[in-house]
Amino acid sequence: MAESLKGLKRTCRCAELTVDDIGKEVTVMGWVQKSRNKGGLVFTDMRDRSGILQVIFEEDICGSEVFEKAGTLHSEYCIAVTGKVRSRGKDVNKELKTGAIEIEAKALRILSESAPLPFPIESETKTREELRLKYRYLDLRRAPLQRNILMRSKLAMSVRNFLDEEGFIEIETPTLIKSTPEGARDYLVPSRVYQGEFYALPQSPQLLKQLLMCSGFDRYFQLARCYRDEDLRADRQPEFTQIDMELSFVDVDDVIDVNERLIKRMFKDVINVDVELPIQRITWQEAMDKYGSDKPDLRFGLPICDISETVKNTGFGVFKSALEAGGVVRGIRVPGEGHMPRKKIDALVEVAKYYGGKGLAYLCVNCAEDGGHKCSFAKFMTGEELDAIVAAMGAEKGDLLVFAADKLNVVRNVLGNVRLELGKQLELIKKDDWKFTWVTEFPLFEWSEEEGRYMAMHHPFTAPMEEDWQYIDSDPGRVRAKAYDIVLNGTELGGGSVRIHQADVQEKMLEKLGFTPERANEQFGFLLEAFKYGVPPHAGLAYGMDRVAMWMAGAESIRDVMAFPKLKDASDAMMGAPSEVDNSQLDELGILVDPEVLKAKEKNAEISNE
Ligand code: ASP
Repeated sequence: MAESLKGLKRTCRCAELTVDDIGKEVTVMGWVQKSRNKGGLVFTDMRDRSGILQVIFEEDICGSEVFEKAGTLHSEYCIAVTGKVRSRGKDVNKELKTGAIEIEAKALRILSESAPLPFPIESETKTREELRLKYRYLDLRRAPLQRNILMRSKLAMSVRNFLDEEGFIEIETPTLIKSTPEGARDYLVPSRVYQGEFYALPQSPQLLKQLLMCSGFDRYFQLARCYRDEDLRADRQPEFTQIDMELSFVDVDDVIDVNERLIKRMFKDVINVDVELPIQRITWQEAMDKYGSDKPDLRFGLPICDISETVKNTGFGVFKSALEAGGVVRGIRVPGEGHMPRKKIDALVEVAKYYGGKGLAYLCVNCAEDGGHKCSFAKFMTGEELDAIVAAMGAEKGDLLVFAADKLNVVRNVLGNVRLELGKQLELIKKDDWKFTWVTEFPLFEWSEEEGRYMAMHHPFTAPMEEDWQYIDSDPGRVRAKAYDIVLNGTELGGGSVRIHQADVQEKMLEKLGFTPERANEQFGFLLEAFKYGVPPHAGLAYGMDRVAMWMAGAESIRDVMAFPKLKDASDAMMGAPSEVDNSQLDELGILVDPEVLKAKEKNAEISNE
């Protein structure tokens, strides 16, 4: 039967004990990792969040009653043990933090027993994730997840401490807000009081934090829960946490400055990594041209090089037609890889195709048996023309050159991904390398083929660069924004911008985004109104906190740094959410579920029962 504490107090956690405690009487509480009876002794590995401690039950010391009880222990029983810390002598277990000591048990309480487990609690698991997420509370007992969650808490604390020292105020913003369809899909919450109307869960506290600047709080932060109803890619969750901030009376450099120091502090506090400041900066244009990505992985080189000029008069149809259609020809020089086996080159071609390219042309510098170039397009060019390409790429004997020719966007995407593949294949990425970069001067707009209009690349409140504003009507695509992302090892950790605080600029921006004044007013009227009453210049930034924690933990997925993540289909396997609700609940909300939907659901249920 489960026993109570009845006044028994824990004196410390299991793995907080050290050789300095030898001789002390202690009481520890935790779970049985494993327990076995060996030669008249019961050896029990006890575990709590600090780690594992060995407990020994010897009948002579603990008496027969306790000894018998110890014999009934099974994995994951929750127990309390009182006893003396003693040395293990020569039998040190180097794998354990507490490997030099053990507890000589005197008393044992079984606080609760455990049913047989759906999967073993072990660091390395082969259990599939669906099952682990169904029993997430058990999964969370595993050492790597315990470590990740503790690390995440440390991260939150580090951020709070730093920002507090810097004069930021932590303010909570509401999570029942107004739906603003710009951006990702909103999660909606029906109103009971106003039937047929809906709140939205915030995709970010963007407008609210800007309003806080209007209120004069001048430095705000929040570990903000955000919600986006997107089709989930491997590394997304429907709800996630942002380290969100906003500052008044600042420009780009001020935001970057305080954030560099925040980054340095959090990486030092949480994982003892020294981030060198200042963090390098690269403009969006340069990142896209050199690395084919707005989140370049700078742990290795292999920059992209433009050879459009060099090849524009050659006879190679693939290059020529791309250039004639207004596209570009670009390549990557891979030093010393001229003898890469054909199979591997073919694999790169597949990568190029996967990312929308027609293929990949290649040239192996002076790698043919006769000392000439080995080249997929040799028969369309003269020797001089090939040499000119080699020279333009700054290549040397034995190098591999790969090329893509297409529209600018396609070439960037293709070569950007071929570059990443090469980095992986050639093992150019050093472990424990932390390459941060700011990406700055993003375009204000991006053209959406789908919608046939300009969309805000960051969001509609992002300020343009003053010197580009003159092009707002003649060439909106040319206007750069005061927007910046912070990138680590090829992933975006966060981003932000200086905001528009002039009514006329904001109006123009909304007009360019296709908002009629009425629609703008309907959606953001409260912000536009607030901006009439003395709005300070302001700017901000938000980090994906889960992403930051994931890097710190060296985890493979953001799910590994969240206590209760959702499955890839956005469902919660443990609670069984989403779920149907009582008709009476729906009635109160004035909601009727489409009968067709119900019919389809029934049918699906039948199929899966068959
Ligand atoms: N609200 C923005 C985002 O969620 C970040 C920012 O501009 O501060 O991406």
